Amino acid sequence: MEQKQIERKIALVTGASRGIGRAIASTLAKNNITVIGTATTDDGAQTITDYLSIYNGCGVVLDIGDSANITHTLKDITDKYGDISILINNAGITKDNLFLRMKEEDWDSVLDINLKSIFLLSKCVIKGMMKSRFGRIVNITSVIGFTGNPGQVNYSSAKSGIMGFTKSMAQEFGSRNITVNCVAPGFVTSDMTNKLSDEVKASYLNKIPLGKFADPIDIANGVKFLVSDDAAYITGTTLHINGGLYM
Ligand code: NAP
Repeated sequence: MEQKQIERKIALVTGASRGIGRAIASTLAKNNITVIGTATTDDGAQTITDYLSIYNGCGVVLDIGDSANITHTLKDITDKYGDISILINNAGITKDNLFLRMKEEDWDSVLDINLKSIFLLSKCVIKGMMKSRFGRIVNITSVIGFTGNPGQVNYSSAKSGIMGFTKSMAQEFGSRNITVNCVAPGFVTSDMTNKLSDEVKASYLNKIPLGKFADPIDIANGVKFLVSDDAAYITGTTLHINGGLYM
């Protein structure tokens, strides 16, 4: 008897070259999902292809700050692999400075990369999700979107904006079996946090009941849950993964 082929879902993970995005992409790939990961450079895309190719996934170059680039790249991916049914909006940047010193361009770029990109990427995938009556969108926000942080007016605004976006999208697309959720990491060991001073790191550590920083895999495990069938009835919410830093 011919064996029925199990359809593999296609996931797009932005910022999969390193840090949290890499952990998410690897974790989903190990769970029978075909993962396309993005990076801003050819080298980064090759790194992604190197670790995903054994799972049939690959890396692509994409600057999520560029609307035309998003449209073209997403069309290429869809033409090659089919509709994307899982979108993980992970890529993000910081450009920290105290409000009085923060430049308009630092505000714009942080809002564009962390928030506007989520709008643009969701636009590209939502019709395919509606057609197949299945979709999972997970947006990586931050504990800073809830607490605020001196020196991060731009970043905290973008990250809390993601929560509003998520709730509205969840309400618009729930009837199509598309869930939209956030994961809000606390302090995770990655390039983004490695650049903080030892003093800042020590002050965070003091406030974390579990007494350690998260590993990227801790965040990836939350994302894996939210895209799984076990989370089919969860939408419009935020999963906090912060060791108790914020509760
Ligand atoms: P990271 O190590 O700095 O990695 C950032 C990723 O985003 C890289 O893959 C980078 O690609 C990509 N990226 C940057 N600018 C981009 C652009 N214009 N277009 C497309 N991709 C771009 O960051 P991380 O710590 O893993 O953080 C991942 C997400 O988690 C971010 O949204 C961040 O805000 C959030 N988060 C992090 C922490 C933490 O403690 N680390 C806490 C809360 C939330 P390239 O390699 O090509 O530069």
